[in-house]
Amino acid sequence: MLQEQCLWELIAPTGERFDSLKQDARTQVCIVGAGYTGLSAAIHLAEKGIDVIVLEAKQVGSGGSGRSVGFVNAGTWARPDDLNDYLGEEVGRHLTKELGLAPSLVFDVIDKYKIDAQDTRTGNIHMAHNAAGEKDVDIRYEQLTRLGADIERLTGSECHDYCGTTRINKALLDRRAGTINPQAYVNGLARAAKSLGVKIYVDSMVTSVEKSEGKWYVKTAEASVQADKTIVATNAYTEGEWTELNKTFYLVEYYQIASEPLYGVEADKILPYKTGAWDTRIALSSMRRDKDNRLLLGTVGGKKMKPKSFYQSWANLIQKHYYPNLPKFEWQYEWVGKFGFTQDHIFRVFEIDDSLLAATAYNGRGITTGTMLGKCFAEYILTGDRKTIPLPFKSLEESKVAYNGVRSSFTEMGVSLYHFGQCLRVVR
Ligand SMILES: Cc1cc2nc3c(=O)[nH]c(=O)nc-3n(C[C@H](O)[C@H](O)[C@H](O)COP(=O)(O)OP(=O)(O)OC[C@H]3O[C@@H](n4cnc5c(N)ncnc54)[C@H](O)[C@@H]3O)c2cc1C
Repeated sequence: MLQEQCLWELIAPTGERFDSLKQDARTQVCIVGAGYTGLSAAIHLAEKGIDVIVLEAKQVGSGGSGRSVGFVNAGTWARPDDLNDYLGEEVGRHLTKELGLAPSLVFDVIDKYKIDAQDTRTGNIHMAHNAAGEKDVDIRYEQLTRLGADIERLTGSECHDYCGTTRINKALLDRRAGTINPQAYVNGLARAAKSLGVKIYVDSMVTSVEKSEGKWYVKTAEASVQADKTIVATNAYTEGEWTELNKTFYLVEYYQIASEPLYGVEADKILPYKTGAWDTRIALSSMRRDKDNRLLLGTVGGKKMKPKSFYQSWANLIQKHYYPNLPKFEWQYEWVGKFGFTQDHIFRVFEIDDSLLAATAYNGRGITTGTMLGKCFAEYILTGDRKTIPLPFKSLEESKVAYNGVRSSFTEMGVSLYHFGQCLRVVR
């Protein structure tokens, strides 16, 4: 029976238990949000002896961090040359370099704090599903090779072997990348932060962030934290009227479905090197396996206003397309998450006040971006050196996405039509 339930928390090692904030407290840095960004910042500050309090509205990883696909990817969705066009050559190249190193940063944190993140480090694959996709793969290959990235272009039988399907004849293997169980990683970050003395409070939704006489007062319904500096790491899951950060992106939903554990020769052929993979469709299909050999498929789109079995039909179609010889099996779990998007696919960083930092809109690339930016924020607070942040700060005003609700609705409508087309076999 298919259950609406995120798989990752079921198979992650049990996380630490935390209390809610019940009494007023003081700290050097208060962080709002316990996802990759907030916890990475907490760890990198606490490593240098800074006193940190993290306030989380729900539980550790309740936002995007606990429910992602788990691809530890290098770079943004935009190609490196496009980043240079948007940001200028100097900033673009610097950002591509830093994001190229970000998977190693994630794996270093995992190793350093002995996190059982159920990770794989064998790379991820961008699979060309048609001629236009093959061209895209060629362009990315050319640009990334020029930059010295550890990538490979797969073709022919080698490509079939890596992808586990004869439907793909060309793909880009990025050896820098890998996969994790997202909830296991974020639980591990929380445990590491706690071991360094960071105080984490859950079920503690921040309702206001105000400055008075040089100090920040970060308030929940029950108590308040006084801090010298504040980092707002609430991203696409921002709740409350105290901030306008959620106007700096438009929300896009992402659906995932996981099979029961699969056995046998045909199951073993799917992504045999435990890489993650996604195709070049406009409404992409992602695929990976978990530690128990489940097949996970995902795509852009939410479940609202759709027939109950709509995405199950979609998943059956994709599975039969790519892995037609797989014996019959059941789908076990399905869930939806949301991420913040911008038209240029580049995240935003804000210095709202000289002692209040925030980041949003990771455009579906938050494992590496969040871990990296958390570290960058920590370094910036420690050193005051602006060069520690790989993007120029923007003001909230200039970053507002006009009609972001309408954009979200149009995106959802567009991908729904695409999926209907796939199910009716009009779109291939
Ligand atoms: C379905 C899905 C698939 C994805 N797949 C990938 C992938 O494969 N690879 C990848 O790199 N990225 C992926 N992403 C993106 C990635 O998961 C996110 O970008 C990343 O988790 C963002 O981390 P974060 O710490 O900035 O924010 P979040 O993890 O969203 O954390 C924000 C936290 O702030 C809390 N919060 C909100 N408001 C308040 C408040 N008022 N007071 C206190 N706390 C508050 C929330 O409860 C939440 O826990 C995916 C995202 C989704 C949803």
